[in-house]
Amino acid sequence: MKPLPPPSGFRGTWHTGDRARSSASRVSGPFRATPRVYAVPSDLDDLGRIVRMARSEGVPLVPRGAGTGMPGGNLGAGIVLSLAESFQQLSPVDLEARSVRAGAGVSGARVDEVARAHGLTLPPLPSSARWCSVGGMVANNAAGARSFGYGAIHRWVRGVEGVDASGEPFALGGGRPKPPSFEALDDRLPSRAPASSWPDVRKNSSGYALDRYQASGDPTQLFIGSEGTLGIMTEAELLLHPIAEQRGLRLISVRSAREASELAVEAAGTGAVACEFLGHRFLEIARLADDAALAPLVRDAWALFLLEFEGTADEVAEGLEATAPGRPGRTTDDTARTIHTTEPDEIERLWSLRRRASPLIAREAERGRISTQFIEDCVVPPARLGEYLVGLDEILASAGFDAVIFGHAGDGNVHVNPLVDVESSDWRVRVRTVLDETTTLVAGLGGTMAGEHGDGRLRAPLLERIWGAEWFHRFRQVKDHFDPRGVLNPGVIIPLPGQDPLDGLHPRKRSWPT
Ligand SMILES: Cc1cc2nc3c(=O)[nH]c(=O)nc-3n(C[C@H](O)[C@H](O)[C@H](O)COP(=O)(O)OP(=O)(O)OC[C@H]3O[C@@H](n4cnc5c(N)ncnc54)[C@H](O)[C@@H]3O)c2cc1C
Repeated sequence: MKPLPPPSGFRGTWHTGDRARSSASRVSGPFRATPRVYAVPSDLDDLGRIVRMARSEGVPLVPRGAGTGMPGGNLGAGIVLSLAESFQQLSPVDLEARSVRAGAGVSGARVDEVARAHGLTLPPLPSSARWCSVGGMVANNAAGARSFGYGAIHRWVRGVEGVDASGEPFALGGGRPKPPSFEALDDRLPSRAPASSWPDVRKNSSGYALDRYQASGDPTQLFIGSEGTLGIMTEAELLLHPIAEQRGLRLISVRSAREASELAVEAAGTGAVACEFLGHRFLEIARLADDAALAPLVRDAWALFLLEFEGTADEVAEGLEATAPGRPGRTTDDTARTIHTTEPDEIERLWSLRRRASPLIAREAERGRISTQFIEDCVVPPARLGEYLVGLDEILASAGFDAVIFGHAGDGNVHVNPLVDVESSDWRVRVRTVLDETTTLVAGLGGTMAGEHGDGRLRAPLLERIWGAEWFHRFRQVKDHFDPRGVLNPGVIIPLPGQDPLDGLHPRKRSWPT
């Protein structure tokens, strides 16, 4: 392939050497692809130059933030465009509007740090906040444990700016009128509602957010979660929330799938801001029975639920009381199956147990069992959580995979880490079977394959099976409308002809960041 020179007038860095391209071929998720160029634009003008050149040469562009995304949307064979270096601007916090303007490359943790100095916070911070960029969070509609109470990032973005598929700057939201290109999209989309309804899930980062866009009329909402396929974001205006006065945590041991579903549904009426669960294999592998406070809960547990409350002291007490044993309608009447605390240090300690599994899972790699994320983010209606977990156990067992499962129970969003024995000859076949059967399971339960990580390249070929032909057709219309030449992240969300979900799957012993 002939070398691709940078566009004329380009002032950033343009890496075409083998070493730089090889290093750019790796990201946090289990996928890998070597780009033709790894480019670092120095500003908005540079970005416009690259997009115009890519468009005229027909070279795909892959926007990248910190590269912590899981399903391969941050990888590709064309030009990987890094936004993480140059777009580091951060405005002072606007205390009246409770907002801040952050460049696409700023990390989520940095935004939160600046906000905290003013008694404010960005509530839906993902657990990858230390690394992941504002651009990546917006592009994936990222979320965190507290999104149960505060929603995903889409609720916290007032407006975005960037460059479109023609290389022209755009600005959406923030009180601006709807741009003509969105008026034209409205005319293009069928006015008749599709026969199948939008999935009844509490959170979603699959497909294009036509639900939020059509309900709000705000173009920003369609851009959020578009995974670099409709435009490249350079800055976002983010909304902030006051830090709560007090916090309280309740842990409940759950003994069956039915109890898990009941508690996931019930949690929504308790005022909890987080409702997480750790599956039985997680409890074993993280050796939570060795912790004196947890031992009585973990013994015989099918899962452990963590519910967090925050607000004034009265509000926290009310939440803890609402979930105490013996309340009418409560699933847990056994006092030995729950503990609670309002001690800040104990709350931190209990949350930190959730992180205990990661190094232990990583250690499994030494035995040739690599934690491989390919069904890592499915979401189902919370009332179907138990059915999903039971179905999943069966699918994984028949494929012979051990798996560590945890997630955002209240949102029905389950993170699955199958430990794939990559030295076996048929691991790829078994991965494919598990992906296929899980897709059927999720579609049957009315869920989607991505609650917060996006579709990427992995899930794009499965989109029509989950969403049905009519929604899929509309998603394709959105893509064709804003990027008719398919320059921006082709193969992400909307699949290319013949695209294989497992293309580029290379589980690695050491993934980054761990
Ligand atoms: C240890 C670990 C923990 C995680 N925990 C969570 C969690 O709690 N919650 C959660 O939601 N996710 C989590 N993730 C996944 C990941 O961190 C998020 O998806 C994050 O939002 C990705 O941000 P990034 O900057 O790394 O984006 P990248 O990985 O670089 O890119 C992700 C996608 O966004 C697009 N993109 C990136 N920047 C731009 C831009 N400026 N303009 C347009 N498109 C862009 C890319 O093209 C790609 O499709 C975790 C990942 C890891 C490794």
